[in-house]
Amino acid sequence: MRWSQTLIPTLKEAPADAEIVSHQLLLRAGLCRKLTGGLYTFCPMGLRVLRKIERIIREEMDRAGALEVLMPALQPPDIWQKSGRYETARDVLYKAKDRSNKEWVLSPTAEEVITTLASTEINSYRQLPLNFYQISVKFRDEIRPRFGLMRAKEFIMKDAYSFDGTDEGAMASYRKMYDAYSRIFARCGLQAFPVEADTGVIGGNYSHEFMVPAETGENEVVYCESGQYSANVEKATSRGPLTPTPTTTTGAAPEKFATPGVVTIDALAAAPYGVSAASQVKTLIYLADNKPVIILVRGDDQLNEAKLAGKLGATAFRPATADEILAVMGARPGSLGAVTATRKALDIRVFADEQLRQARGMTTGANEDGFHLRHVDVERDIKVDVWADLRTVVAGELCVTTGLPLKIRRAIEVGHVFKLGTKYSEKLESSFLDTDGQRRPTVMGCYGIGVTRTLQAVIEQCHDKDGILWPMSVAPYQVLLTPLGAPGTPTAVLAQEYYVQLQAAGVEVLIDDRDERPGFKFKDADLIGIPLRVSIGEKSLAKGEVELKPRGGALRAVPKDKAVDEVLAFVRESLSKLA
Ligand code: ATP
Ligand code: MG
Repeated sequence: MRWSQTLIPTLKEAPADAEIVSHQLLLRAGLCRKLTGGLYTFCPMGLRVLRKIERIIREEMDRAGALEVLMPALQPPDIWQKSGRYETARDVLYKAKDRSNKEWVLSPTAEEVITTLASTEINSYRQLPLNFYQISVKFRDEIRPRFGLMRAKEFIMKDAYSFDGTDEGAMASYRKMYDAYSRIFARCGLQAFPVEADTGVIGGNYSHEFMVPAETGENEVVYCESGQYSANVEKATSRGPLTPTPTTTTGAAPEKFATPGVVTIDALAAAPYGVSAASQVKTLIYLADNKPVIILVRGDDQLNEAKLAGKLGATAFRPATADEILAVMGARPGSLGAVTATRKALDIRVFADEQLRQARGMTTGANEDGFHLRHVDVERDIKVDVWADLRTVVAGELCVTTGLPLKIRRAIEVGHVFKLGTKYSEKLESSFLDTDGQRRPTVMGCYGIGVTRTLQAVIEQCHDKDGILWPMSVAPYQVLLTPLGAPGTPTAVLAQEYYVQLQAAGVEVLIDDRDERPGFKFKDADLIGIPLRVSIGEKSLAKGEVELKPRGGALRAVPKDKAVDEVLAFVRESLSKLA
């Protein structure tokens, strides 16, 4: 391709609203343009990268035996009602109305549609296992679309859905996708690693997210340096807080004491009270499907909402507002407590973190503004309905497996594999006749890759101060030819010869045929990040040489007659490293 004949709208400066480096480079390198927040047009260079990532994904899905299909993005709401997600996914669902005012759903994912297909097309154990995938546009009404393609309103996802007859079969299908994902990201030149992930309201234990470590990532990953444990912080566990919870009884019954103006854990921990945070019980009020619930965690612990969601089993939940809390508890936040004897309403369910199970001699709010209770033995004084792990792991706590201190780092989620079980097959009636003549629900798995997010994650991981460093496998072009003389001069003539020869050899070549100064061309070359640049300048050419410059590597002069062979070898070798 000739630079002068395509559209590569590079920018000197990043637009002000591009916060993270990959978003800036996406725009500066002319890969995409923003239509409006969360919606992007792919320019020719960006689309080439996207197609390459898609091709790698297709090859690996096909290799794993998955079958490509294409489902409608416009979906009838009734199947969403059947699965229950018309309600549970309501926040992210885009809806559209047609001329007769009938409502439609714009697909954020496609479990409902694929299971509908399975319900009519899968009938016998002889057909199983089956795995279907598609690469298509998805829509999500995100609360905060941001960071360019990372969190968009419309994006491209590869989604796959496996159907098996047994749990073991489903595990094998899961494993195949897990392995395929590892290969896909490696082939894209991306360091992505699997971490145990939260399964939220769906339940079950089999879920991994593929994470790309990055400061700008929206996820936190808890990991053990031994490599034996890594999990999304939403799911992570440890051997518990570093300071132990008090377990000694300090009094026969809770005792009220005055704490005027004290409404925080810290204030109660400070003089004159001196009640350590570890010996306080923090009381939080949430509304789960509009019903209040009380949540208890240790004073110095943070509630983990993802863990809570898994235990509540509610369609929707949120923290109660101060007014709602006052109505339910008779006191304001900062003075709340769950001690049974002091509670106004006793029909509110209490969820308590496991750390509090043996906690004795604790202090908590008295449900009366300006007062707290001490000598609280949690099991003795509070009627707990559900004990669960509800706390958020903190860096430095010890790994359950190895006992080593855990670390936390930020990461970008590029993929997610999930064992679904029979949740969707039961609700949308996908069943099969088993070997024994019994009809059983199919056992499903679902597997997503954010294709457009992956593209940007590659930039986030592969860049320097001057621009992008595309891995050869996904680069928009493999080689950039940069003649440095004016059109018609010997440098331009030789570049044209190379262009023809390399293209004939199957190399993807971009030639910078613009009538621009060398410095300008080099800046753009670094910015767009083609893996190998061949510069043809008058001075070197006088010595019979041209210059090869791998992006991010050292410049090397080669005899002009050897250049094509050297380029071919470089491209081949770079590709084989990512095969
Ligand atoms: P997140 O936690 O980032 O919102 P998710 O858990 O909702 O993601 P999944 O439903 O598992 O995402 O979707 C599969 C993949 O699609 C994700 O791993 C991610 O790479 C990608 N993805 C999800 N939401 C978006 C979005 N708004 N923009 C771009 N990619 C997305
Ligand atoms: Mg996810």
